[in-house]
Amino acid sequence: MTAPRLRFAPSPTGYLHIGGARTALFCWLMARRTGGTFILRVEDTDTERNTPEAVQAILEGMRWLGLDWDEGPGADGGVGPYFQSQRFDIYEAHVQRLLDQGKAYRCYLTSEELAAARALAIAAGQPATAPRTWRDATPDQWPADAPYVIRVKAPMEGVTVVDDLVRGEVTFPNSELSDPVIVRSNGVPLYNFACVVDDHLMHISHVLRGDDHLSNTPKQIAIYDAFGWVLPQFAHLPLILGQDKKRLSKRHGATSVMGYDDMGYLPDAMINFLVRLGWSHGDQEIFTRDELVRFFGLNHVGKAPGVWNAEKLDWLNGQYLQQLDDADLAARVAPRIAAKGYPAPAVDDVLARRVATLKERSTTLEDLVTRGAFYWVDADDLVYDDKQRSKVLKEANLGHLQVCRLRLGALDEWSQEAIEEVVRAYSEEQELKLGKVAQPLRVAVVGTNVSPGIFETLAALGQDQSLRRLDRAIALARDPEAL
Ligand code: GLU
Repeated sequence: MTAPRLRFAPSPTGYLHIGGARTALFCWLMARRTGGTFILRVEDTDTERNTPEAVQAILEGMRWLGLDWDEGPGADGGVGPYFQSQRFDIYEAHVQRLLDQGKAYRCYLTSEELAAARALAIAAGQPATAPRTWRDATPDQWPADAPYVIRVKAPMEGVTVVDDLVRGEVTFPNSELSDPVIVRSNGVPLYNFACVVDDHLMHISHVLRGDDHLSNTPKQIAIYDAFGWVLPQFAHLPLILGQDKKRLSKRHGATSVMGYDDMGYLPDAMINFLVRLGWSHGDQEIFTRDELVRFFGLNHVGKAPGVWNAEKLDWLNGQYLQQLDDADLAARVAPRIAAKGYPAPAVDDVLARRVATLKERSTTLEDLVTRGAFYWVDADDLVYDDKQRSKVLKEANLGHLQVCRLRLGALDEWSQEAIEEVVRAYSEEQELKLGKVAQPLRVAVVGTNVSPGIFETLAALGQDQSLRRLDRAIALARDPEAL
């Protein structure tokens, strides 16, 4: 058996959406698992609906997810993708072949005739198929200068069976199918046609796509049959639903893959999340990419729709975030800090140390940036929460702040352990619970009562920043008007 060849064939009408990304992922995994080939084919024949921005958005989404493709004409020595808009001559030649062989015909039905036939059929409780008026017309019967579409002659009796790797056998009575249109009246080939020609010429062995295309498949089979071509294996993937069991839409949150990048989700977490929308491997929830490539198979793709679960995505993202190396995390977070209007931080050990203190509780990169807001500003610009300020930065805590400020200022080595020792020793001397001293310190350096552990926070802030913040807080505790 030759290695499988798969393609992801998006139409560039918008961004790379979640459903498309899952289809692309399944195709990619199957190709990688089997040593097969993964092709990206941009289906951009519809010039009215397709835009170059949408093409870029799709490529960006694919790259972000790390779904690399193997083949295609490429530009600048790169690989692919294929663009259908560059293949019009191929489609034209294939249309001509079917016309020459009498397998396709010009259909001159007007939209009024089609609408009338449709209304009649519906009134009679019949399937609303397009009349085959022109199927056997000869050129001398063609009206002069009238617009026409080209249709393939599909079988009129019997059934078309889609033998689907996910759905099993799905049967369509041919009496319910129209002769599929393959070329519009403006001469542009339709999706069903260009798709079949390309899938054949590109030797696609497995056509994986969303369930919403199942109704196209009998039309495509009619086109394969007209050419006398062997069918690929079809696999229609179940839809993705929101938690309300309605089809996933913007109402459920972002449906664009890059929207999740904007929100601070990690591509590996997204991949892990997407793969579980329809595929399972026992009870396992977290997979490395290598594991996915080893385990993935269509035999464990279920028929039931995948249900989008935002909490699960958050949980998964948190897991992946915690596993990131601190330097890597710092590099990812730095541009997000700057994008929020804070001074652009250097990607260095200081930043790595700061993000390390935040990563355990954060769900997304954006969440981490928000939680760490106090780190990204200078001591002079730290904003104190009004409530905490009046509750904690007050006369009664002044002594604690002053003594800690002095002793911390005297430290030669600014380490978490050394800081902890100073604060513990002081609270023991004063016979106070640690929190009585730690809390004013926290509000002093963070501005609020929520932060990672105070000792690690102080260590990560650095001695200079910590002392300057303590000085400000001491001034405030002495005189609430001091800011
Ligand atoms: N261009 C089609 C789409 O974006 C492709 C469907 C298919 O995979 O055949 O939905």
